[in-house]
Amino acid sequence: MESFSTFKISKQLQYAIEDLGFEKPTPIQSQSFSVIQSGKDMVGIAQTGTGKTFAYMLPILQGLPFSMQEQPRVLVMVPTRELVIQVVEEIEKFSKYMNVRVLGVYGGVNMNRQKEAIVLGTDVIVATPGRLYDLVLSRALQLKSVKKLVIDEVDVMLDLGFRFQITNIFELLPKRRQNVMFSATMTDDVNELIHDFFTAPETISVAVSGTPLDNIKQFCYSVPNFYTKINLLVNLLQDTESFSKVLVFVSNKKSADLLFTELDEIFGEEVAVIHSNKTQNYRIRSIENFNEEKTRILVTTDIMARGLDLDSISHVVNFDTPPFPENYMHRIGRTGRAEQEGTSFLFYTEKEEPAKEAIEALMNVSIPLLEIPSEVEISRQLTYEEQPKHHEGNNPLNIEDSGKGFHEKSEKNRKVNLGGSYKRTIKKKYKKPKTKGDKNFNRRNKNK
Ligand code: AMP
Repeated sequence: MESFSTFKISKQLQYAIEDLGFEKPTPIQSQSFSVIQSGKDMVGIAQTGTGKTFAYMLPILQGLPFSMQEQPRVLVMVPTRELVIQVVEEIEKFSKYMNVRVLGVYGGVNMNRQKEAIVLGTDVIVATPGRLYDLVLSRALQLKSVKKLVIDEVDVMLDLGFRFQITNIFELLPKRRQNVMFSATMTDDVNELIHDFFTAPETISVAVSGTPLDNIKQFCYSVPNFYTKINLLVNLLQDTESFSKVLVFVSNKKSADLLFTELDEIFGEEVAVIHSNKTQNYRIRSIENFNEEKTRILVTTDIMARGLDLDSISHVVNFDTPPFPENYMHRIGRTGRAEQEGTSFLFYTEKEEPAKEAIEALMNVSIPLLEIPSEVEISRQLTYEEQPKHHEGNNPLNIEDSGKGFHEKSEKNRKVNLGGSYKRTIKKKYKKPKTKGDKNFNRRNKNK
């Protein structure tokens, strides 16, 4: 692969690269440098860990002349406060030998301090969309000098419901500007945003490659249910020496809380949890403690952990099997960074087996299966979700039935109240009533 010297970059940037110890550009860096430098719009499909922050900052910093002007010329939008902090730190490292002013702004903290910082002047502003918009509305910040816009983790941003703020911010930016966007996955929402606001963008994809990262050892366990998964995890985590820094992934907040409560009883202060219902302060503290190795185990959902740079993780545990195989790649990408070796475990139930197979198909490998150690108790306890249920076709109140009596009724004898609105919906869809009741239907429509 080419070296950084082919990029024709300033001495200041070269020194920073040397300090960082980067030997050669990553694929996303190699491919995006000339595109971003040319001033074209660009869409990068790349996940965290590919070096994407440097991929956009290197050409941008290279092309950023010294200026005393107060209003920012580069705007980087990211979905979370944690990412703002991380991206600001990265930019500060890259621009160590340059005269560049970088400022991070995000919600959840007092706005006045941020306003004071803006007044001092800034070249690059890194922001979450909501707070950025508030600062513009309060006239503390002007965006008319922004020449380059970077939106990172667009998929997450749209997932968090920021489309409205993003669109509003677009309206406030100068028409003549360069747009650069990074997303780990391409979704319909992302595509629509590109279509609406980008001009003939060049797409560079170093997305999920078919091969797993070489320095990650992957294993899986076939586990009957949630509580047995807990028993297995607890068993593994007893080995404090090799399980020195463990990231445990679950797909939703509810499981995260449930799992945390169970682990907390056994491991106490060794374990923390992050998900979007926790306050930002709590999340930041949890991540800091984890990074400083004050807590050994961090339970997280996919959205929260994406975009975070968590160093030297010994193990990633996929407590559940993600239904989108790409998410698995994101998860295991948290370990085995650079030259470090990492291990990943995937726990799957029978129901999750197809998702596991989809992951294996994407990576084109089969994940070695391990036997559950004999001392792990196989639990018979089922979570509410795992209990056998009867699913009604139309259940507007989302009441799940687990009552026995109901099950025992035969299909034929069951009376289901489909309700008025449902009737209207299918009526509209099929243009004729689906219930037997309307005896006059044919008569009425006969002469039409
Ligand atoms: P990112 O995908 O931007 O979150 O970057 C992931 C990690 O890779 C960060 O810790 C970067 O400092 C690091 N990194 C970025 N570029 C390189 C490179 N060319 N060589 C080695 N590490 C890099």
